Amino acid sequence: MRESKIKKQERMHIVLSLLKKEYPNAECALHHSTPFQLLIATILSAQCTDARVNIVTPTLFTAFPNAYSMSKAKLTDVEEIIHSTGFYKAKAKNIIACSERIIKRFNGELPLTIEELTTLPGVGRKTANVLLGNAFGLNAGITVDTHVTRIMNLLKFVQSTDAVKIEMNLIPLIPQDDWTVFTHVIIQHGREICIARRPKCQDCIISHYCPSSLSR
Ligand code: SF4
Repeated sequence: MRESKIKKQERMHIVLSLLKKEYPNAECALHHSTPFQLLIATILSAQCTDARVNIVTPTLFTAFPNAYSMSKAKLTDVEEIIHSTGFYKAKAKNIIACSERIIKRFNGELPLTIEELTTLPGVGRKTANVLLGNAFGLNAGITVDTHVTRIMNLLKFVQSTDAVKIEMNLIPLIPQDDWTVFTHVIIQHGREICIARRPKCQDCIISHYCPSSLSR
């Protein structure tokens, strides 16, 4: 039977409350000292683990700490530093071009809207949401990564692998103030309990509300 929107909202409310209690310190795992550094770390995190990004960013940000210095960086120098994050040629090109645009188009200041941020090379809706939520405390959208995609499908809150579709389906179910924290607790749950291909349903605090639970 199809679950009504109200029932879904109620179930989401319980799931989110339980996860917020379980992971009170859930936060962005990408190390950074400034919003610009978070933006670059997020671009590097595409198809790569946060842990791997955190290994390369200290060297990268020591050499090029801000948009101005990054915009002047030599492509080969950036490629060499970020090599291990994968897709390093495209990423290096994008982060230099992105920095140039921040300097030239936005006078060195990061814009604060999804529409403007997504005009920067290498920046999609996901990266814009991560930046606005974590560097500026703005809940402008919901960040949808692989954990959110997998777990929202298992919980049957969505039936899609399209990130934008998932975000649009989740927005009416979650209070706006919780959009950023929602992604953090889901990612932590995905790393610790609802692990891809081997979920620990017997240890899962939301199993009672999960139609895919293996522990029933
Ligand atoms: S019950 Fe199992 S499948 Fe459902 S969220 Fe928990 S760990 Fe994942």
